[in-house]
Amino acid sequence: MKTIGLIGGMSWESTLEYYRTINEAFRKKLGENHSGEMVIYSFNFQDIVELQNKGEWNELEDMLVGAGRGLKYSGAELLLICANTMNKLAERVEKKVDLPLLHIVDATAEVIEKEEVSEVILLGTKYVMEEDFYKMRLERKYGLKVVVPSKDHREKIHHIIYHELCKGVLKEDSKKFLLDVIHVLKDRGSQGVILGCTELPMIVDQKDLDVPLFDTTKIHSLKAVDLALDR
Ligand code: GLU
Repeated sequence: MKTIGLIGGMSWESTLEYYRTINEAFRKKLGENHSGEMVIYSFNFQDIVELQNKGEWNELEDMLVGAGRGLKYSGAELLLICANTMNKLAERVEKKVDLPLLHIVDATAEVIEKEEVSEVILLGTKYVMEEDFYKMRLERKYGLKVVVPSKDHREKIHHIIYHELCKGVLKEDSKKFLLDVIHVLKDRGSQGVILGCTELPMIVDQKDLDVPLFDTTKIHSLKAVDLALDR
């Protein structure tokens, strides 16, 4: 099996889920005491958030590249950036570290393509919902129509992610708000929902909805396991 390198800590709440999901998938596929070969670099998330707020994406890129090189040096053969937002830098990190990197959008789109979904709701940080790097990849590369919530709703979702979920805080009224946002967009014709933030699956679950839910944390982790076993 290949060794998977996780660039994590963004936040650690979701890196835990990557670690758990990957190990459980190896156990399920290989049985016995099998688990994943992994190396993890876990950032202090406060540093990441402060640089994001200042728009210092070049510095963030240097940090991810440094982490990626460290993982490569420690044996990683495949890289994952364990956050949708930070996949904004995926292509540059892949090139500079010179290791295959599994883009979270590609892993997710591959799963969406197997469903009867042509128009999908995208929830995530404001970077994910508002910038081109995520939506355009889904639209241009995979031909999906992507719908995002209204500006007010985007701001509130962004707030919930950084001020609640990334701090491990789960509130019932935030869950209700997220489900209400999804229902409004679904009633306008969308056929599925991308949880385009790796902490959102902590609070929204498939059983809360009657349309397919694409959990990027789970999808990204499981695709990495397939790639790790694909020798
Ligand atoms: N983990 C989140 C994401 O998937 C947000 C944290 C970050 O800014 O990286 O986008």
